[in-house]
Amino acid sequence: MSGPAEPSGRSALDRYRAKRDFSRTPEPAAGADGAAAELRFVVHRHQARRLHYDLRLEMDGILLCFAVPRGFSYDPDQKRLAVHTEDHPLPYLDFQGVIPKGQYGGGTMDIWDHGAYRIRRAPSTAAALAAGEIKLTLQGRRLRGEWHLVRTAGDDWLLFKARDRYARGPDEPVPAVDLRGARRAPVPRRPRPMRAAGDRAPFSDAQWLFEMEFAGRRTLAVCRGEQADLHPPAAGAGAAPRFEAVLAALGRLRAEHAVIDGVLVAVDRRGRPSRAELDRPAAHAGGAPVAFYAFDLLYYEEWDVRGLPLSERKALLRSLLPAGGGVLYVDHVAADGQSLAAAASAAGLQALVAKRADSRYRPGAHDAWARVPIAAADGAAELPIEEALRRQPSPAGDTARVQLGNLDKVYWPAGGRTKGDLVDYYLTVAEWLLPYLQSRPAHLLRYPDGVDGEGFYQKQVPHLPSWVPTVDVSRDGRGSHYVVCGDRETLLYLVNLGSIDFHPWLSSIADLDAPDWAVIDLDAKEASFGKVVRVARTLAKVLRGIDVAGYLKTSGKSGMHVYVPLAGGYIYDQSRMFCEGLARVVVREHRDIATVERSAARRGGLVYVDFRQNRRERTVVPPYAVRPVAGATVSTPLSWDELDPDLSPDRFTMDTVPARLVRAGDLFREALANRQDLAVAAGRLERYLRIS
Ligand code: MN
Repeated sequence: MSGPAEPSGRSALDRYRAKRDFSRTPEPAAGADGAAAELRFVVHRHQARRLHYDLRLEMDGILLCFAVPRGFSYDPDQKRLAVHTEDHPLPYLDFQGVIPKGQYGGGTMDIWDHGAYRIRRAPSTAAALAAGEIKLTLQGRRLRGEWHLVRTAGDDWLLFKARDRYARGPDEPVPAVDLRGARRAPVPRRPRPMRAAGDRAPFSDAQWLFEMEFAGRRTLAVCRGEQADLHPPAAGAGAAPRFEAVLAALGRLRAEHAVIDGVLVAVDRRGRPSRAELDRPAAHAGGAPVAFYAFDLLYYEEWDVRGLPLSERKALLRSLLPAGGGVLYVDHVAADGQSLAAAASAAGLQALVAKRADSRYRPGAHDAWARVPIAAADGAAELPIEEALRRQPSPAGDTARVQLGNLDKVYWPAGGRTKGDLVDYYLTVAEWLLPYLQSRPAHLLRYPDGVDGEGFYQKQVPHLPSWVPTVDVSRDGRGSHYVVCGDRETLLYLVNLGSIDFHPWLSSIADLDAPDWAVIDLDAKEASFGKVVRVARTLAKVLRGIDVAGYLKTSGKSGMHVYVPLAGGYIYDQSRMFCEGLARVVVREHRDIATVERSAARRGGLVYVDFRQNRRERTVVPPYAVRPVAGATVSTPLSWDELDPDLSPDRFTMDTVPARLVRAGDLFREALANRQDLAVAAGRLERYLRIS
């Protein structure tokens, strides 16, 4: 960064224009005329050579810009460097896209937050800029409240959160929901609650989450600044002292405006919920303390968030609640209603509430919510709430419910490995493997007599215990329930059934029709592994050429798989077409050793570049699964520079992979986060095809 940025103004855009070739970058070239009445801001998440955030503030018809390398912190003690960069034109407020490699700022530019801002304690943004101190109130989706920018030297500024209701400690959750799907609406005076349509017996289902139900009074809290109104109102005048902690906490919410759904609970001397205590006449001074157990969020600042999925509403709610009593967050257990029912029964609670994780909030009774009454276990005592919550099963679960059998059975006669060895392996690698199985329907390949015995493929597993999560994958609701293996306990259960490996879908239960993996399978059959390596290297070159990140692993047999993680919003036809394009480019360069010919007879000794797995209900073995072949080889992630003509996939086995994981870590892990836009990737592939 050279010298301080010159005074901002329309002419300052010269510097912006000078850095860019508008025939090559999709960024806006010219500024719009006239300043809007409301001042706007945008924060871009800019994945350039280095990831950073760009804060852009509307000012006199241009955008004043700061690059913030480490992003924003809600902790006022975290002061972050912000570098004043060149002014940008106003249309940049709406810009997002990919700036080509080699161009200035090459990389992906996404809108991370946007909204309105006000300048504080200065007549204008320009005056604050000149004074070297910019105090802002941001009204964004993620960024709220007062923030300060203070110039230290040249173009270097410090950015930090001012101490206000939105400030948070270093470990407290921050709003991480972009509010797509919410609409602007004022907080209503009298919101109406959603209710369960009926009762259900305890069940487990990956698409549901489960909360404990506490005995108390269902209440909606309408919060405006320090004022909170409860509906129905909390008893008459004089009741106030017992509700003071609740009202005070609601007044300290990390939001100016909110409507929260929950239950008012009075606890007796032993810490147990007590309706009698809650209804005690107000005259009784020194009654039991009351707490508000919050479980849903209907309105947030200027948005009606009832249209967002429940899981997003709850994440947002959690980030709004102030620390320190009065209002408590009602956590949930995902999928495993059966375990929570058992814990609640032992704690003497009477019911759970089951809710569909993707459901909207609608007033009145709806079957996206169900009450799950439970019978108290024999000898169960009513436990204090704290104790009941402590017994809530952790999402990780435990392994107590799986009765393992036949552990001495030899599964790999050649090497003498047993079923018990397989169980040990999966317990060791579970934390690495499970993220690739989680939330996906899976097919099983069962070898109850080991790899030399008969194997069979299974989509729907009969006689599953009810705690094993399943998902209905049928489109017509006929009910095709596939296992979803998201925890160690389910994993062990499936291994105990004789599954050696598992085959997850390429889409998740969030949207079974939208793949989040695109996969190319380099299938060797009679071809040598050396040829597979050559083809993989070419695929790597093509992916680099179109700036798409691909992730490589051995298949665990004779081939390799290359995964491209995808952002949502596309269908299988599109991911398959993309992979077909990649496959054809690769084959064009290697006609002597590679083919896209489906028929095995006509493939000869060529490497089959298979893009056809990218379909609903097709599956690919995940990283770290053991294959049902002699040698107990494992599908193992590789770094691209391990692609060596001498590479032998046989050395990655059940015996060697755990040590490799400890040494090298999970080379695939980045693929879980680096979800790429398929349309952008496909567009670049098309251009690549035209010029190469
Ligand atoms: Mn930038």
